[in-house]
Amino acid sequence: TRVLLTGGSGFIAAHTLDVLLKRGHSVVTTVRTQAKADKIKAAYQSYSDKGQLGFAIVPDIADPNAFEQAVISDPPFEAVLHTASPFHFNVTDVKKDLLDPAIIGTTGILKSIKKSAPTVKRVVITSSFASIVDADKGFWPEHTYSEEDWNPITQEQATVSPIHGYRASKTFAEKAAWEFLEKEKPNFTLATINPPMVFGPIIHNLETLENMNTSNQRILWAAQGKFKDEIPATGVHLWIDVRDVAEAHVAAFEKPEAANKRFFTVAGLFSNKEIAQIIKKEFPQYKDLPSESTPGGDYPEGGANGIFKFNNKRSIDILGLKYKTLEESIVDSIKSFQAVGL
Ligand code: NDP
Repeated sequence: TRVLLTGGSGFIAAHTLDVLLKRGHSVVTTVRTQAKADKIKAAYQSYSDKGQLGFAIVPDIADPNAFEQAVISDPPFEAVLHTASPFHFNVTDVKKDLLDPAIIGTTGILKSIKKSAPTVKRVVITSSFASIVDADKGFWPEHTYSEEDWNPITQEQATVSPIHGYRASKTFAEKAAWEFLEKEKPNFTLATINPPMVFGPIIHNLETLENMNTSNQRILWAAQGKFKDEIPATGVHLWIDVRDVAEAHVAAFEKPEAANKRFFTVAGLFSNKEIAQIIKKEFPQYKDLPSESTPGGDYPEGGANGIFKFNNKRSIDILGLKYKTLEESIVDSIKSFQAVGL
């Protein structure tokens, strides 16, 4: 299949690109600069030589016309995977830095596909558990989160903090995509992938460990000894390995029955304490890891049963996901960080 993948330089997109190429799909990926294209090209030179990998430069997805040219290709695209969206909390202006690129990026690409790429049959959008969770409920042991749930966050709440802003950006962008489908009745069907915290090996180009992608930071910090005296609170306690997220994106356009569905892709529950314990056991060279008695980072009272439940059945039945274990994900993450100097 001829596929357009947005944000190819990102943590999740790099794995998605890898699965796409190895499965024989023909891919154009968007990146913000030629230098980023050149790095990816060098890593996949043989695919590029065969004409199976090409690039389009899209500097800023917050421009409503950002994808006007990128959606046009010969041979024409049959599927589009839209992963590009800001995921960091280092923002000064929530609207400009988070909401606009997420929402305008999503509506912009859908408009451009409808207008200029009528051969596209399926669009897959990287949404998030952020679009599902009701953060105000906190721990909610009697509740089972599934594709039925929507984050009720409002416009006013969106600007309270960068975390609110990020969650709102994902919620509003996904809502805008489903509304586009309903109102515009385009030629394509939609699927969204809604992962929680994504861990796993980095295969995108990372110049320094300082630039670690947001969701892997806690694994790096644990190995660097930052959890020695106190382990930070875990947050949402749900996770998935990046290789399973990549597989989900590809399955979501390969499988006809994924049409017009959300997929809550989640491997299981975790705590920051468990991450530190895995690193301590598997990598004895890192000395400053917390001990059994170090405070923080644990499950609440009631253990894993005290959080909330999740239903990932649709992702297994339709996408065929077989989830990796937390041990495997953490061990492979650390090994990949070692290659960048950990
Ligand atoms: P990364 O930060 O590694 O990737 C983000 C990608 O989006 C990068 O390619 C980045 O390009 C691109 N991007 C961001 N802002 C813009 C912009 N204004 N214009 C053009 N490109 C832009 O993070 P992830 O791989 O983790 O995130 C990928 C997707 O997955 C996002 O949609 C995120 O919301 C979603 N997600 C991630 C989760 C996780 O735990 N990692 C969980 C749930 C969802 P550049 O690097 O050049 O800035």
